[in-house]
Amino acid sequence: MLAGKAVMITGASSGIGEAAARLFAAEGAAVLLMARREDTLKQLAQEINDSGGRAAVSVGDVANAEDVRRAVDATREHFGALDAAFNNAGYAGSQMLPLHELDQDVFERTMDVNVRGTWNCLRSQIPVMLEAGKGAIVNTASTAAMVATGAPVPYVAAKHAVLGMTRAAAAEYAAHDIRINTLVVGTTRTEMISHAVEAHPELEQAFVARQMQKRMADPVEIAQAALWLCSDRASFSTGTALAVDGGLT
Ligand code: NDP
Repeated sequence: MLAGKAVMITGASSGIGEAAARLFAAEGAAVLLMARREDTLKQLAQEINDSGGRAAVSVGDVANAEDVRRAVDATREHFGALDAAFNNAGYAGSQMLPLHELDQDVFERTMDVNVRGTWNCLRSQIPVMLEAGKGAIVNTASTAAMVATGAPVPYVAAKHAVLGMTRAAAAEYAAHDIRINTLVVGTTRTEMISHAVEAHPELEQAFVARQMQKRMADPVEIAQAALWLCSDRASFSTGTALAVDGGLT
């Protein structure tokens, strides 16, 4: 579905981003993997390259505009283009506490990774896509941006910001054939969830019960939706929020 496309994926070292890297590569994309854990990224890139795919690595923090710019440049250097981007890196923290009990730095970090990170990605990716005259970007929100799920308030706020930023940017660039959508992710079995469950074991049950399907997603089920949004098959979708959530109750 992505044959011949160059795609940048942030947060590619685990969970949904890792699943997307494997899936996109299997679907013919050349993938630029960005996150902070260098060894994990290099190992994943090697696995993809060894199995006949194309992958390269750019280590960095999405909250740092220069790191993001480097990842965009690396995508073009390695693969000659930036056709699509899956801006997936995110941070929720493991403190499941009411607002007044949260550490202040949880707010700063949550905003930095989810909001500033998405902003940095858009700021670096869009000029390249304007030059090419087309592109597709998928930003990552959460069902926490749709309903009150009990997620920490900074995370809820940050994912609402991602939704808003995506819709506004989509309107600005639709005439340039750049599609920008949000993937609204439901509860998915990844490190993010296991960290929360380690800190609060009672959450396992609640995480499962919240979906009509009474289970969490496997990361690849989310990656499949990102694949579609990044592909030309989603040619009439922009500014929208696609929920993959097992049926939200
Ligand atoms: P994981 O914790 O498994 O993966 C998060 C990824 O983001 C890792 O690759 C991590 O890599 C990367 N990352 C975190 N901070 C930064 C940073 N500052 N700069 C660059 N990369 C960073 O979680 P998920 O796969 O579950 O999360 C993916 C997305 O899905 C996130 O946006 C999350 O908010 C969203 N989501 C997830 C849900 C779930 O239930 N799992 C539900 C709703 C939304 P590294 O540590 O190497 O930097």
